[in-house]
Amino acid sequence: MKATAWMGTDSVKVIDVPDPKIMNARDAIVRISTTAICGSDLHLYHGYIPAMRKGDILGHEFMGEVVEVGPQVRNLAPGDRVVVPFPIACGHCSSCQRGLYSVCENSNPNAGIAEKIMGHSPAGIFGYSHLLGGYAGGQAEYARVPFADVGPIKVPDEVSDDQAVMLADVFPTGYMGAEMCDIKPGQVIAVWGAGPVGLLAAASARLLGAERVIVIDRFPYRLRLAEEHIDAETINYDDVDVLDALNAMTAGRGPDACIDAVGLEGHHGNAAMYAYDRAKQAARVETERPFALRQAILACRSGGVVSVVGAYGGFVDKFPMGAFMNRSLVMRTGQCHVQRYTRPLLERIQRGEIDPSFIVSHRMPLRDAPKGYKIFQKKQDDCTKVLLKV
Ligand code: NAD
Ligand code: ZN
Ligand code: ZN
Repeated sequence: MKATAWMGTDSVKVIDVPDPKIMNARDAIVRISTTAICGSDLHLYHGYIPAMRKGDILGHEFMGEVVEVGPQVRNLAPGDRVVVPFPIACGHCSSCQRGLYSVCENSNPNAGIAEKIMGHSPAGIFGYSHLLGGYAGGQAEYARVPFADVGPIKVPDEVSDDQAVMLADVFPTGYMGAEMCDIKPGQVIAVWGAGPVGLLAAASARLLGAERVIVIDRFPYRLRLAEEHIDAETINYDDVDVLDALNAMTAGRGPDACIDAVGLEGHHGNAAMYAYDRAKQAARVETERPFALRQAILACRSGGVVSVVGAYGGFVDKFPMGAFMNRSLVMRTGQCHVQRYTRPLLERIQRGEIDPSFIVSHRMPLRDAPKGYKIFQKKQDDCTKVLLKV
């Protein structure tokens, strides 16, 4: 089959690889129809995540048709149209039982104590390096889906591929970012990052009753999406001081909750993301552009919530602990427990409450994956989200 492979820093290629096979009684094989490139894939593209090997198949956002199931998969049958959550989760361990699927204890054989310190996902993730289980990804013609009796859900005909594939990651992630804010009627929610995750966090904040949503980014075309589709107010951090602007917009109090949908962002380089060299990290943060998490903490009103869905790894120094402690803030964070959200969010799409595909800017054939990575990384051609059609 054809698959998108990581070939080194800033290099992906569509190559021929063997078709995946059922390896476990709880596996399914899915013939992929639509798969997406994610901001998280850019961390791999930039070479910031160790333990990628040349030829590793990328992609953790995908959907398609079940073509084969192992003997213990009774909820799915060949012919079913499904979307697959990005965290691989067994459904039975103590984490999964608590609904904490992205910290499943049984899906990442490499989740040891060193990894705990370095800070990466304890669960396996499709197409996300050998630190996260070494699973082949879904930017391909077929994928093997472990624990298929737990993760994938069937998608009804009236929901399009473009809508359903958002359930693999970015819609649940944005929604979890908003849900963690514990939004009350009348509240003001600020979101750092107008990428797919930030835009869907902002849209979810609306669904959950926020009165005002403020979105912060530096790309006018992305901020326009927030204005047009979410009726959000926007701040361009290249033009104004974000803390001053937020103070002015909230009568000096600050937003009730702040969502970081940026993470240890790449455009000014995060090569030290996994470094143990703390001095190097500190120096880097000093020269960094506005650092979203730090700003989110400094901006938040006293007693408010800082919700972090942007991805981090390793150490983050220059954390404003004083402001955090003395103003009684709360922080909630995590890789998304996607399996918790797929059904309720599918129902919201079916009821017409939201169409998460408003973020999609590009659709192209799988063979154009290298071009897709390039324009998404460089934010060319007003690129917000690339779907690869297989
Ligand atoms: P993206 O790269 O398309 O979007 C990031 C946006 O942040 C860009 O528009 C960028 O201009 C903006 N930005 C950068 N620095 C900023 C700053 N200082 N202030 C405000 N905005 C800033 O990526 P995405 O697909 O939207 O993903 C966003 C983040 O979410 C990434 O870190 C990704 O790894 C993470 N993520 C986390 C989960 C999870 O489960 N928690 C799931 C998916 C993605
Ligand atoms: Zn993703
Ligand atoms: Zn589990």
